Amino acid sequence: MFEKNIKLKTVFEQVERVSSYLFAREWAERNGGNLSINVTEEMGTVLQEDLERAIFVEDTRVLEELKGSSFFITGTGLRIRDLNVGKMAQNACILRVSECGTGYHILWGGHRENFRPTSELSTHFAIHLNLINRGGRHKALLHTHPHELIVMTHNSILCKTSDILTHNLWKMIPEVRVFVPKGVAFIPYEMPGSQTLADKSLIQLEKRDVLVWEKHGALATGVDLDDAFDYVDVANKGAKVFLKCLSAGFEPEGLSCEQMSELEVQYLKK
Ligand SMILES: [Zn+2]
Repeated sequence: MFEKNIKLKTVFEQVERVSSYLFAREWAERNGGNLSINVTEEMGTVLQEDLERAIFVEDTRVLEELKGSSFFITGTGLRIRDLNVGKMAQNACILRVSECGTGYHILWGGHRENFRPTSELSTHFAIHLNLINRGGRHKALLHTHPHELIVMTHNSILCKTSDILTHNLWKMIPEVRVFVPKGVAFIPYEMPGSQTLADKSLIQLEKRDVLVWEKHGALATGVDLDDAFDYVDVANKGAKVFLKCLSAGFEPEGLSCEQMSELEVQYLKK
């Protein structure tokens, strides 16, 4: 019933395109990764008859403060590579948090037996609420498994602190310094989908552009899905060049402090 909504169509097209990038990069094996987008604005006014037609799911992970908000969100256990127009409604849904704040209505998609939103739902809800409260423009959230960033987290020296990890990435090419300006947070290992991981991610997202979960994957938000993808992609480029240098048998020199300062003056201090 929402297929004719032009704004939503644009969101679906972006999901399809970015999902294809994730799969092409091998960052989305099997059911690896998940994504969500706040589509409250795109949905416009939701009619009572639409709510009555929709499936209602009670869920303790719902945050009451999000009542009335709608999200495009991927399903648990489903493949990112199946997020194409033909299969999207089976592998993702648009849910609207109920007015009573105890669950959500599935307004679109979820056309599969036992469909449920991603197991990282707690993290997605917590971050979206935080984004709303901060009043910024970010509406999309992407979690994926970029190889090189994950590899960096398997070495405790490279990731001893978020500042050390960030510096290791920033110094590799100018673009990382400029387009990941707040750097990358390192979050020590936590159980995927846990509330602890959600809480720690929330704190770090206020300070950094990209989060790296130890031995797991990365997470970023953006104005839209392309923007969130860019943050992860650029950060991962730093990790890739760093590791390529090590593979070639030498420690990377990295940009000098002077070169980094020049970049900051030229591109970041305006
Ligand atoms: Zn993951």
